[in-house]
Amino acid sequence: KTREDIRNIAIIAHVDHGKTTLVNELLKQSDTLPEHMHLEDRALDSNAIERERGITILSKNTAVQYGKTKINILDTPGHADFGGEVERIMKMVDGVLLVVDAYEGTMPQTRFVLKKALEQHLTPIVVINKIDRPGARPEEVVDEVLELFIELGADDEQLEFPVVYTSAVNGTSSLDSDPATQEHTMNYLFDTIVKTIPAPLDNSDEPLQFQVAMLDYNDYVGRIGIGRIFRGSIHLGDNVSVLKLDGTHKNFRVTKIFGFFGLKRVEVDSAKAGDLIAVSGMEDIFVGETVTPVDHPDALPILRIDEPTLQMTFLANDSPFAGQEGTEVTARKLEDRLKSQLHTDVSLRVEDTDLPSAWIVSGRGELHLSILVEEMRREGFELQLSRPEVIYKDIDGVTCEPFESVQIDTPNEYVGSVIDSMSQRKGEMKNMETTDNGQTRLTFLAPARGLIGYSTEFMSQTGGYGIMNHTFAKYLPVIKNWTPGRRTGALVSINQGTATTYSLQSVEDRGTLFVDAGVQVYEGMIVGESSREQDIGVNVTKGKNLTNTRAAGKDHAAAIRTPKSLSLEESIEFLNEDEYCEVTPKSIRLRKKIL
Ligand code: GDP
Repeated sequence: KTREDIRNIAIIAHVDHGKTTLVNELLKQSDTLPEHMHLEDRALDSNAIERERGITILSKNTAVQYGKTKINILDTPGHADFGGEVERIMKMVDGVLLVVDAYEGTMPQTRFVLKKALEQHLTPIVVINKIDRPGARPEEVVDEVLELFIELGADDEQLEFPVVYTSAVNGTSSLDSDPATQEHTMNYLFDTIVKTIPAPLDNSDEPLQFQVAMLDYNDYVGRIGIGRIFRGSIHLGDNVSVLKLDGTHKNFRVTKIFGFFGLKRVEVDSAKAGDLIAVSGMEDIFVGETVTPVDHPDALPILRIDEPTLQMTFLANDSPFAGQEGTEVTARKLEDRLKSQLHTDVSLRVEDTDLPSAWIVSGRGELHLSILVEEMRREGFELQLSRPEVIYKDIDGVTCEPFESVQIDTPNEYVGSVIDSMSQRKGEMKNMETTDNGQTRLTFLAPARGLIGYSTEFMSQTGGYGIMNHTFAKYLPVIKNWTPGRRTGALVSINQGTATTYSLQSVEDRGTLFVDAGVQVYEGMIVGESSREQDIGVNVTKGKNLTNTRAAGKDHAAAIRTPKSLSLEESIEFLNEDEYCEVTPKSIRLRKKIL
């Protein structure tokens, strides 16, 4: 038995290929009730950062009613830093729409999301949009899509993908690539969705299994878990058990269930297998947890959540360590802001430091963290940031660092310099393929440490034509005697509780510097990247007083300039270069620093 009244799909598109316009048009032409539409808030509309970066960051959902069928459409984030989230979205749906510009063709940024969809054996529908554009080349673009599917390992069934040609701005569609056949209706797309995307299984008589795939939060109802009912049904007043990831459980009475209608979330009394819903009132419900009847605690396999591999210290600008006069942002505000981000961003960690105004923020990658920083800056926060650092892990007594698998597409002429840079960054080349059109694809396994800061260099190195994607591969033993080169910038404030001052000796450009005071060494550093060697620097505290030697550097506001050599006092030691120290957030005994 299936639920013919529901289809759950995800939408994949390169930014600007018309996803928002298309979903709006689907809404407009649908039977969705007007009060759920609110077309002035455009469906899926991307924020400014998404536009600038050319990727979708926030996942959003829209539900469109077509005749008797409700079509839930989930947007997908478009970057490898959000791989876990993409995977979770793919688990909630039964098919995908791939929207491709009929003029521009396939764009590599969608490759990663598409791959995840194909891996989940989802049925894709290819929507060739902007068929009205002068120079549109719909048939060639369909061939490009086919090639991409083959390359990404699509199975035979997926290669038989249906194609719908649309002009989202004109509200027209057709099953034929000839623009003259366009009709003023989206029914060709609606019908293709209903016909080719599998309807969810209807096993609503069985015991409930609802799994949370995403979190949301609002001040009125608190934490909200969004996910799919895979089995059974849920009703207001039911007694349910939330099966936690650690094997424990918590019982609740269901007090609020939301369904998706148009662009709105509306309270409903019940929902059943196949439905996507949101629930609140279950306290700290988390991604991957399963909600079941109390007497049927049967958990679904947990969902992947990306582990953070990179961390940065965020420092409020009015902290004594920031050394900058005049600021409105208090440490408290910064803390609240960071902690509120945790309500919805499951791959983020925020840890207190021993300083009142500094937090260690860990995330999936440079993009993940830089988006948060950019959002906060746009909200008016003035921040000082450390350079990003990888998160080391102790695995079976061996200190390990994160490695990424890196895929690079570049015009042939830049291959040499890319390989050069990657090998300097300890990237190990795994594969190299040259295609007929003058492009080469290189794959590497590289330490995340080496990749920090590479994307900017890469863009100029390849004249803007290169495309780089990387995803977390695994933790491997730390590469010894190596510090990614050519960076300057340095520690740190060192503050022993007893107001003894420690300062650092000159910081070598390439050396790995360790501080072992054998006492509590507090951190809270400001480090910036600078293109100028002499912009290295140190912040040193004397009790609460700061000896600040910061000067604005070229690339980051946080670069520090210090005298070239600082005197070394008391029990700070330089350890052997190849020893790495673990930094535990609460008591930092050793504080390495580098650069
Ligand atoms: P998104 O970033 O994928 O959500 O793209 P949008 O829906 O915001 O569309 C990006 C731009 O393409 C906008 O200026 C749209 O007006 C335009 N656009 C969208 N669909 C079409 C179409 O079918 N034909 C043409 N010519 N332009 C379109």
